[in-house]
Amino acid sequence: MNIEFFQTLENLKQPLMAGLYIHVPFCARKCAYCDFYSVPLAGGPAGDYLQALDRECALLPPGFAPETMFLGGGTPTVLAADDLARLFDLLARRVDLGHVTEWTCEANPGTLDAEKIRALRRAGVNRLSLGVQSFDDRILEFLGRIHTARQAAESFRLLRAEGFENLSLDLIFAVPGAPDGALERDLAQALELGPEHLSVYGLTFEGGTPLARRRDAGEVREVDEEEQLRQYRLVRQSLTSAGFRHYEISNYARPGRECRHNLLYWGPGEYLGLGPAAHSHWAGRRWGNVRNLEAWAAALEQGRAPREFEEALEPEARARETLVFSLRRLDGVERAGFQAETGFDYHALRGEEIAWLVRLGMLEETDDRLRLTEKGLVVSDAVFAELV
Ligand code: SF4
Repeated sequence: MNIEFFQTLENLKQPLMAGLYIHVPFCARKCAYCDFYSVPLAGGPAGDYLQALDRECALLPPGFAPETMFLGGGTPTVLAADDLARLFDLLARRVDLGHVTEWTCEANPGTLDAEKIRALRRAGVNRLSLGVQSFDDRILEFLGRIHTARQAAESFRLLRAEGFENLSLDLIFAVPGAPDGALERDLAQALELGPEHLSVYGLTFEGGTPLARRRDAGEVREVDEEEQLRQYRLVRQSLTSAGFRHYEISNYARPGRECRHNLLYWGPGEYLGLGPAAHSHWAGRRWGNVRNLEAWAAALEQGRAPREFEEALEPEARARETLVFSLRRLDGVERAGFQAETGFDYHALRGEEIAWLVRLGMLEETDDRLRLTEKGLVVSDAVFAELV
């Protein structure tokens, strides 16, 4: 095994709170809008993937004991029940799971059955995030999803019946050509099912996806900004009046049900990521694994670190990045806490830009805190571009 890579990890200090992300790079079929790294699971590659994952797990720093785990993808639940069982066996062997308080698995309707759900529960998964996206079959077809609205609701009920008490749903808005009132109906149906958490994203046209190609060919038009804004506000209004806390730009939770693992990404938290395309942030360094299943597995087999990039952030750049990530949370950034964490006062880092964004009504500032306003929330990417 590559000695430099091994020592790098071994010598890093264990942070107080750390997460482990595992990327399962398979899907039943690619959705039209998807830019995540995943490949169709076409019979057999899961064995090679599991073997390579086992090798990568062996590189975790000795004593690494995550508090949060996140099995994402891709679609982890597209794995056959016996492959899922092998995945959980190897994690139990290679990872100290004794400190895990939250273990999330992503799943998609159409890939779940009672046997798989029981395997998840037995392994210790205690939070499930279901990719519903819409309860309108026309929208699901437009997005290229493999499931129907009915299957989505059935999957949700099956998860509840099998004992999952912490469930999240993903929804997508700003879908071109969506029937009138579709978003209102999606929100109503989601609320009727009663999840503890919702992630609601506007559809984005990522370069290289079939959806972007259809737009470029003039077949579909993106929903205009004003309408996107109206839909974002509708989501926010509907979910907050139903008792959900809007705690991150696209995320809503019942009190106490915020996703602890994702909060690591939206702050100074540290995490290690395993699997192709997985990212890590650890002890001031960031790296990303190669976005290719075969190249990732080959590197591990040959004893090389399967990284596509790696950077060590200077303290100031790291502090600016922490500022931007932390502003994604609606309770914003606490000034003294930020200084203690990063060693920088945010005014010393970006005082002029902060004052300008406050004047524009994008940020609001009190003596001890900086946060996005509602106006800033809807153009958050532009706000962050000024601060990074
Ligand atoms: S199920 Fe998720 S990860 Fe898989 S192709 Fe669709 S959007 Fe991408």
